[in-house]
Amino acid sequence: MTDAVVICECFARDGLQHEPVFLPSEQKIALIDAFTAVGFRRIEATSYSNPKVVPAFADASEVLAGIRRKDGIFYKATCPNPRAVDRAVADSEAGYGPNEISLLVSATESHSERNLKSSRAAQWANVEAMVAAAQGRFRLIGTISVAFGCPFEGHVAAATVIADAARFAALGVRHVTLGDTTGLATPRTSKALFQAVAAAVPELTLIAHFHNTRGTGLANCVAAYEAGVRNFDSAFGGIGGHPAQLVYGGGFTGNVATEDLVNMFEAMGVPTGLDLTALIETAHRCEEVLGRQLHSMVARSGLGLVA
Ligand code: ZN
Repeated sequence: MTDAVVICECFARDGLQHEPVFLPSEQKIALIDAFTAVGFRRIEATSYSNPKVVPAFADASEVLAGIRRKDGIFYKATCPNPRAVDRAVADSEAGYGPNEISLLVSATESHSERNLKSSRAAQWANVEAMVAAAQGRFRLIGTISVAFGCPFEGHVAAATVIADAARFAALGVRHVTLGDTTGLATPRTSKALFQAVAAAVPELTLIAHFHNTRGTGLANCVAAYEAGVRNFDSAFGGIGGHPAQLVYGGGFTGNVATEDLVNMFEAMGVPTGLDLTALIETAHRCEEVLGRQLHSMVARSGLGLVA
């Protein structure tokens, strides 16, 4: 197994869906191009959510049409339902679709109803329809929300997450993300769950998506790394988490901050493949675009002993 990690930059989707202000398409395009220049191999570009529900991504097609792509880079679009996949296919036929789409399920009924407006059974039927609608055009990323605990139901059984991961695998999905949607994971539960899913469904490449709601995000990433995970999601400035209209209690909601995660891995001797000078410039640019200081430590302190 390689030591190197692949970090997916999630600012433009997971991040921006939490922002109340609509960022103009040209600014989104310029940011995604900057992420490509930093060297990210996976970039979450947009979502085909219903624009009436999530207005931040009303310009999904325009953004995908406007970005400058690099070969071998995956530009992901989130797809909540079959209609969303149809839009991805239409953009693909027009020559500017995503090359990766994510399909969402929640590990608990309460979160599924609240976040997806759908029971788990209905959402799994949706996922089957989405896989069929995708026509083999995209790399499919199965995403399991609240895998490490649910704000409404508390503990989530590992068996439920394993069964969901296996169900994705049975549909031909080869990449599955375990999402810690409200920051309830600990290093111990992170390591245990990734080890359990990897053992039960070894054909999957697993992706860690931690939120830093309670300050455990980086520790959980190290624990997942020790469990063999080499794919991580994060967002510059730690923004994002979930749609702005969903409230899971108070406090910070966001993702692990990309610049902090990259600094930690590089200082540990774990290669990220990223341009570290461009990384810091881009971290500051993300703050300029949103007009405020974001939740990164490294954007303030600068990089540590990374060389
Ligand atoms: Zn997130």
